[in-house]
Amino acid sequence: MIDLHTHSNASDGVLMPEALVQKAKEIGLSAMALTDHDQVSGVSKALESGKKIGLEVVPGVELSSYWQEKERKEFHTLGYFINWEDQELKEKLTFFQEKREERAKKILRILRDWGYLGEWENLQKIATGSIGMPHIARTCFEDPRNKEKFLKEFGGIPQVNDFVQKYMLRGKPAYVEKTLIPPKEAIDLIHKVGGVAVLAHPCFDLSQGDFETIKILKEWGIEGLEALAPFRTPELTKESIKYFSRMAKDNNLLVTGGSDYHGIDGIGAGLGFLEWGMEVPDEILTDLKNYKNIQ
Ligand SMILES: [Zn+2]
Ligand SMILES: [Zn+2]
Repeated sequence: MIDLHTHSNASDGVLMPEALVQKAKEIGLSAMALTDHDQVSGVSKALESGKKIGLEVVPGVELSSYWQEKERKEFHTLGYFINWEDQELKEKLTFFQEKREERAKKILRILRDWGYLGEWENLQKIATGSIGMPHIARTCFEDPRNKEKFLKEFGGIPQVNDFVQKYMLRGKPAYVEKTLIPPKEAIDLIHKVGGVAVLAHPCFDLSQGDFETIKILKEWGIEGLEALAPFRTPELTKESIKYFSRMAKDNNLLVTGGSDYHGIDGIGAGLGFLEWGMEVPDEILTDLKNYKNIQ
């Protein structure tokens, strides 16, 4: 059993890379990939701990991108076996990191106008890796000055999702557009650093029957589909795995799989899909390595 899609606290996961690797070993996985959002700072630590405890770790990343022509739809591209120490990659990721920070500051300013106070310094403490909307929400939750306002509007401190949905999603008052690269550039960047480019969670980003998009992505150099990705419920997931595995096969693409684990148990499929009683077989990694000519 393996898991090729995980997040550490170098992006928006909860566990440190070392702890994530440790957990993967404990639950019986034979390999995992660390694929933090637009961030590779956890890779070295994950590889080191993997070596120490005897768990194979694949260096990876998950790049976010907007597809301008498709109503700025967000697409995520996974990169496997990347050279995470490449200078150009690091510079590109730093640029997006800075844009993320600018965006977070803007959101904090707007929330302030709506009566929710949050300090940049506190946000930085809460978000150990790249800043996401849940971190901004938590910054407001933990600020005692907002207690009354939350009580009045939500009857107490709300769930992260409820607050994010009410204020930070597109069309809501504190929505600020992200700066992301186009999907083709994401694929090119992964190739440039020697990686295999795979479309993440097609169950969310690709409609079933959307052969046109897959054709374009293939022309741009996508090499695999993460057909084994959790999709809402175990039942829907089984159906979607079947569908996208077939789609990958028909398009001569690799099939990969991972849980998109963020370090919180009880949400989603859990590390290795195990909480849903499913698993990602070792052969997926063998195929990926054969394709890359890695022993
Ligand atoms: Zn994703
Ligand atoms: Zn992810």
